[in-house]
Amino acid sequence: MRLSPHVAILELPLQLAGRNEIIYPVAVLEDGSITLIDTGLPGQVALIRKALEELGGSLEQVRRIILTHQDIDHIGSLPELVRLTGAEVWAHAAEVPVIEGRRLPVKMSPERLKAMPEETRQQMERFLGSLGSLQVSRSLSDGEVLPLAGGTVVIFTPGHTPGHLSFFLSGPKLLVSGDELRVVEDQLVGPAPQATPDMPLALESMQKLVGLDIERVLCYHGGLFSDHPKERIAELASQIEQSS
Ligand SMILES: [Zn+2]
Repeated sequence: MRLSPHVAILELPLQLAGRNEIIYPVAVLEDGSITLIDTGLPGQVALIRKALEELGGSLEQVRRIILTHQDIDHIGSLPELVRLTGAEVWAHAAEVPVIEGRRLPVKMSPERLKAMPEETRQQMERFLGSLGSLQVSRSLSDGEVLPLAGGTVVIFTPGHTPGHLSFFLSGPKLLVSGDELRVVEDQLVGPAPQATPDMPLALESMQKLVGLDIERVLCYHGGLFSDHPKERIAELASQIEQSS
């Protein structure tokens, strides 16, 4: 779905650990090239290709892949996409060792791997091994403005993972929140507690989203939220202040 002349959201199915939902990577189509924000699960390149073609683009136009964070539903198709397109990979420095396969994901441990059913464990190990071919070409820092979609502000929002990023696309006034915000039952809420190792930090990060001129929020889990998002984000952030 196109949100503006240059910005579109992709819709990919997520079936993981008993969940069955849609996840929403972003494509910015500008100057004949495409920038993706997040890449879905392993094995979703064909779906991404089809979605880009429906937007009038092609997979071969993907030059840059920006990652909100290291979780498998965000970097799953990254190795295959990079292999096919040679795209640059941009992420926060704290996520780089995981994305490049040099460290286990923050929510994974040798014990957790061992406890997985044999087939799942093999799939996971294959995936983690495939990350070894990757190189992050650019580390993104808080407050940087990328020349993308009328100026895209990088917002460091750690907590869900150590190097989680959100992005404010100032052209379409769209906040791409990654997993820092979700839409649950039509309401904008904070990150999922069971998947957020440092919840206090994630809640503190939310303060940084207050005051942005946001018209719509795109949550990777839950999709678009456009019902007074600025007010709702301020409300979420103030509840946190009161509880701390
Ligand atoms: Zn996620």
